[in-house]
Amino acid sequence: MGNSDKNSDDISVYIKDQEYIANRYVMKCLNVTMILYTIIYLLNGLGIFIVDKMLMGRGFFPSVVIYLVVLIFSKKASLSKTTTKYVILFGVVVMFTLMGASITYHVVLMSILPFLYAMLYSSKKAMRFVYILTVISTIIVVYAGYYSGLCDANMLLLTTGSMHEYVANGQFIVTAVNSNPAVNLMLFFVVPRCLIYIAFSAVCNSIIKIVSGSLEKAKLTAQLEEAKEEADKANRAKSRFLAKMSHEIRTPVNAVLGMNEMILDESKDENIRGYAKDIKSSSLALLSIINDILDSSKIESGKMEIVCVNYSMGSLLNDIYNMINIRAKEKELEFIYDVDANMPSEYFGDDKRIRQVLLNLLTNAVKYTNKGSVTLKVSYRMQENNAIIRYSVKDTGIGIRKEDIGKIYGAFERFDIARNRNVEGTGLGMNIAQQFLKLMGSELQIESEYEKGSEFSFEIEQQVVSMEPLGDFRAKLSKAKEESKTYKEYTAPQAKVLVVDDNKVNCKVFSSLLKKTQMQITELQSGKECLELLRQQSFDLIFLDHMMPEMDGIETFHAIQDDKLCENVPIIMLTANAIVGDREKYISIGFTDFLSKPIMPADLHKMILHYLPEELVNWAD
Ligand code: ADP
Repeated sequence: MGNSDKNSDDISVYIKDQEYIANRYVMKCLNVTMILYTIIYLLNGLGIFIVDKMLMGRGFFPSVVIYLVVLIFSKKASLSKTTTKYVILFGVVVMFTLMGASITYHVVLMSILPFLYAMLYSSKKAMRFVYILTVISTIIVVYAGYYSGLCDANMLLLTTGSMHEYVANGQFIVTAVNSNPAVNLMLFFVVPRCLIYIAFSAVCNSIIKIVSGSLEKAKLTAQLEEAKEEADKANRAKSRFLAKMSHEIRTPVNAVLGMNEMILDESKDENIRGYAKDIKSSSLALLSIINDILDSSKIESGKMEIVCVNYSMGSLLNDIYNMINIRAKEKELEFIYDVDANMPSEYFGDDKRIRQVLLNLLTNAVKYTNKGSVTLKVSYRMQENNAIIRYSVKDTGIGIRKEDIGKIYGAFERFDIARNRNVEGTGLGMNIAQQFLKLMGSELQIESEYEKGSEFSFEIEQQVVSMEPLGDFRAKLSKAKEESKTYKEYTAPQAKVLVVDDNKVNCKVFSSLLKKTQMQITELQSGKECLELLRQQSFDLIFLDHMMPEMDGIETFHAIQDDKLCENVPIIMLTANAIVGDREKYISIGFTDFLSKPIMPADLHKMILHYLPEELVNWAD
């Protein structure tokens, strides 16, 4: 039964198609007819005159009005085929009756034409019927009218003066050629009359089609806009939810990581230090998942922007090295840095996004490689004043099957699940990397051999700021390592630092991280308390949390600015709302800088050393 249903469906689709083709064909014919009709009249040398008269002739306007009304009615009523046939029949009968009573036949003819057109939509046969009926009825009307004298020739022509006169006076050019009035009548009245009605109907029909089409379009557009608004609303809700969740999750993770750092700092027991290290790596993994989800939702909602600044290639590569080298070491992989020493050292571009892409690729390379090496190769070529930098991340890992390579950019795509079940991941890393690269006018290239290894690479064009060569990167790396060791060994007992966070544990973490520096740290839990204290006391550095009840960090910041409570004191936004792009937001509000939670000890020290007046810092020997 299902089959026969399907067949009948197919057949009706086929018929519909055929009708559609037939209707289009008819429309074309009608258009051509219209043109031919005009040409015939033009040939007669009376085209303009007749058109003029036609528009003003008696009965024409009422005919048109009736025609349109009936046409709209018939379309609206979507009459069934049988009803339409009856209506037509009725129309024809009425037409003849009225003709006998000397009523303008156009009124009648034009009134039934729409019904014929109602049928035009339903079948090809009906269309043929329309043609034939129109032609026959016109011939009958014209002949009957002419010979019986019941119908005024004026009305036929819609001109002044009788048709007979026109023909008899030889006003038609062709009359001179053909003196037979019956032939002339056929040539110059009957045929053009038939054609004009058909063409007129076709034109009206097209207009109605266009009007109803555009109405439909407007309706569709409105519906689409409504749907888009709904989707936008849902997306905004999702972003709000994510921002909130990010804050909610980051805050406790901050406490976990901060306290854990204390354990790592203070405990001498290797077992306990081992547990603490596991806590650290799991917390960091949790953070990276949250970050991925946030980034991905930001890209999705189109809010991800490229922010270009001057940056140093040295520090970009240094940061990456520090982050990846530890992971590579943990898996006993060789981490090879192959950087062109001649490449320029400073560029203008979005170093944060490049860093993120490279970190994603390198993290994967380490994750999916069990033995061998991971290589980061950085090379360049100049193109006028810009450098095209090529980054390549190569590993000797598990590789990707050919059929999976194309799918790698899809969000939440992961392969070889059975084999990688112990490897943490969301399947978002590659998707984010590719989206970032797209934003920067680049794209990821992947070459991989299953069970042998993979190479991910991309080229990026960057404006060169300093042509000074980068130099031997390995030498720089060891120097940077020394520097990073030194920054911890300082004290600043005179420095007064204020930290405002409604979460007591966070304040405690903050103070604990700075314990060794002997700074005077004041912890407050609300914006109000902060304003009160600032009226009495001054500080060298202020850290303000964003999300606080009653008065949040931004409101507190504005109040501090308005009351000029501490001019020239750096105020740093301390927040768990670390969605990419937030940094720019806080800095544009007026904050000196931005530190995201969980606070990484190295970042905190770096920031403090950057903003604390130098005379307050005592370096250890
Ligand atoms: P995940 O968070 O799972 O690592 P990604 O989007 O970063 O998600 O990567 C998608 C999938 O591509 C991974 O699950 C893995 O199957 C495969 N993949 C990515 N990088 C590598 C690589 N260097 N070697 C082998 N497979 C990889």
